[in-house]
Amino acid sequence: MAYTKPIPDPEQYINKPFWDGCKDGKLMLPRCLTCNRVHFYPRVICPHCHSDQLEWVECSGEGYLHTFAVQHRAFGGWAEEVPFVTAFIDLKEGDRMLTVLRGVDATKPETIKIGAKVKIEFEAASDEVSIPFWRVV
Ligand SMILES: [Zn+2]
Repeated sequence: MAYTKPIPDPEQYINKPFWDGCKDGKLMLPRCLTCNRVHFYPRVICPHCHSDQLEWVECSGEGYLHTFAVQHRAFGGWAEEVPFVTAFIDLKEGDRMLTVLRGVDATKPETIKIGAKVKIEFEAASDEVSIPFWRVV
């Protein structure tokens, strides 16, 4: 089935290592060599201490559900998926990631538990790009 949602062009962004990692099934994030914290989304300076001394590290792909919202309206390819759940994930390594949450019933939000353990997964959007999602485990 064709992927009908927007697809980023990793060649246009400073976060190419993030997208290369997604293609390889890995969560790659920048870690600050000054304060040792990781951050999402990738930036050229650390949002915690403003250092530009960063390295790319492979993260565990594990985290916890911080909060979520059920989306009932969407455009383009996302309209085919409503209702679906968007969420903030507290990464095991620190910082927080906005995502689409899978493995939950968007029609029964009372069954979705804040703090639930989640794991990252990747969906091939094209031959060059895979998109990260998170799933309750
Ligand atoms: Zn820092």
